[in-house]
This record gives sequence, C-alpha cells and structure tokens, in this order.
Amino acid sequence: MAEPAILVSGGAGYIGSHTLRHLAAEGRKLVVLDNFVHGHQEAILDEGITVVEGDLGDPAVVERVFSEHEIGAVVHFAAFINVGESVRDPLKYYDNNTARPLVLLAAMQRHGCKVFVLSSTAAVYGEPEAIPLVESHPLQPVNPYGWSKLMLEQILRDCGTAWGLRSVCLRYFNASGSSGDGLIGEDHEPETHLIPRVLLALTGEADKITVFGTDYDTPDGTCIRDYIHVNDLARAHALALDHLLGGGESVACNLGTGVGVSVREIIDAVEEVTGKKVPVEFGERREGDPARLVADPSRAKEILGWEAGKKDVREMVESAWTWMNGPKKGHFQK
Ligand code: UDP
Repeated sequence: MAEPAILVSGGAGYIGSHTLRHLAAEGRKLVVLDNFVHGHQEAILDEGITVVEGDLGDPAVVERVFSEHEIGAVVHFAAFINVGESVRDPLKYYDNNTARPLVLLAAMQRHGCKVFVLSSTAAVYGEPEAIPLVESHPLQPVNPYGWSKLMLEQILRDCGTAWGLRSVCLRYFNASGSSGDGLIGEDHEPETHLIPRVLLALTGEADKITVFGTDYDTPDGTCIRDYIHVNDLARAHALALDHLLGGGESVACNLGTGVGVSVREIIDAVEEVTGKKVPVEFGERREGDPARLVADPSRAKEILGWEAGKKDVREMVESAWTWMNGPKKGHFQK
C-alpha cells in the first residue's frame, strides 16, 4: 500500500514553506493546501509536492483533498498572525484561525485521520507570571490572536477525548531567519517583526527602525524575546509528526532557545553582522508588549528530542540578511 501523505495547510507561508522543504528533504509524501492570500506560490520549491489552491474553510475543497489523497497526518499553519490587526478586527481572526480549521477537523474525523500538528504560539500565555515560560503556565492571552490559537488548542484536546485525535501544539516564540541559501525567507506584508524591520532600515526600504519603549524593567530598558531560527522550527514539526505517527500522546511544547535577547541587542547584532550603522529612533512602548518572553524549551527536548541548533541571535540575523540580499527577495511581494 502507498505511504499516506501529510497534508500541510498554509505550506506556502513563512514557517510553512521552511517546514515543507524540511519534510520534502526527508522524502515524505506531501500535499499542500493554501489559499495564497498571504502565502507565496514561489515558496514551494520541491518537485513532487501536490499543491491544492483553496481555503481550509471550504468544505468542498477539503473533502476533495481527503477523497483524492490518503492523508495520514495534518500539519496546520494557515493562520493570520498580526496581533494589532487581531485587536482591531477580532472576527477576522476567530473566523480564519479558529472557525475554518473546524472544516479541516471534520474532514479528518470523517476520513479517520487522527494526527495533527498545530502551529501555535507563545501568545497563548499572555503576560508572563514567571520567566522562563513553562507549558503549565496559566493560559491567559492578552489579544484575540492568542485567543484564536488557544481556542484551537482546546478544540484539539476535545477532539482527542471524543474521537481519539492526537495532536502536538507547537508554541513558537520569535521565529526568525531564512533557509540560508537565499531561496526562501520571511516576507510578510506588512512586515511587523523586529529583525526584518531593522534590516529594512539598512536596505533603504524603511528610513529607520523605531525601538518600541526604552523604559521596561530589563537591563537595557528594551523588551526581551526568544528568537528561534525558522529551520529549527521546521525540524520540530518533523519530530512532532514522528512522535504522533509512532503512537505518542498529545502534548503542547514550547519552541524557543531559552535565550533572551533585547531589542538593543538585536540592533547591535545587525550592526555586527552587516558592518553597517542602523538608523535608530527611540519611541513609545507598543501596546500589549510584555517586557520579557523567554521559553523553557525542556519539554520539547524531553518528549520530541528537539533542541534549537542555533542559539546565537547573530546566526538568525545573518540568515535573514542573506535572504534580504538574495535574488529571490521581492518576488514574494504581492
Ligand atoms: N519591536 C520594535 N520595533 C519594531 C518592531 C518590534 O522595537 O519596529 C520590538 C517589539 O516591541 C518587541 C520585539 O521588538 O519587543 C519583538 O517584536 P516582534 O513584533 O518581532 O515580535 P513579537 O514579540 O511581538 O511577537
């Protein structure tokens, strides 16, 4: 019998496309479902991947995918990620990130597919009560984006009880970097993330970087985050699949390095890696930013055998810079 395929929803997005490449390199059979609203067709590089253009909230498209392919597992990325937008337009987030995946889950239930890897987020924790964050920390998001993901986590747990779905919820900290060969990388529109925004201030696409707040209770007054390389995230999804396909239990795992880096330290790293002076402006705090978000990644190591390979933020900056100067950058712009 042919090997069942892995369905990757949102496989044309930033983390999705890096994961897809990793899974393809491992020789896995892959089907991508992407509506290309934010994903980029050009980010799907490997031959032999079946690409279905469609929305995971469209019952006809999803049913067709499950009828035409034997799907053994789902890795679900397709989601909106802009925290500020989620505050302004919560229904957009609850629709796309929480409601539409129900169509996918219903198809899984109908077709007896019981393995699910979720692209989740550290935003499910909200304002941290203690650092580093462990998975048992209270789940109290402070914005609709975090809630939209947390609700989906809960839905997965309930499906586990009801019909035996097994899931791994991967709670990412700050995804960063690129494939490193210049072929795929981070290309959001609009770009809100710190590392690409600092780099855009060097390429001339932005005139400066604004540091959001210098009066936080941290050693240099700027916010501390845990920057995790996108290829390390990609590898974690493969390990999560192995865990579940090998009969492992449902679990939620943080994916971070455990290393906290401040906004000022990111700017220093950019100057060191590029040899260029970053034009910086010091501004007001951005609403909703906790002072520190740093993962305790030990559960991922214990259960999935995963550990970040890159822990020095200069490596993340270097690979983001490679992408930004590569020939492909810009072809993702929509
Ligand atoms: N940040 C900043 N200037 C920017 C973008 C981000 O100072 O133009 C800060 C932001 O306040 C946060 C950190 O950089 O403390 C990381 O922000 P990002 O949006 O990359 O990720 P988040 O931690 O919000 O998921």
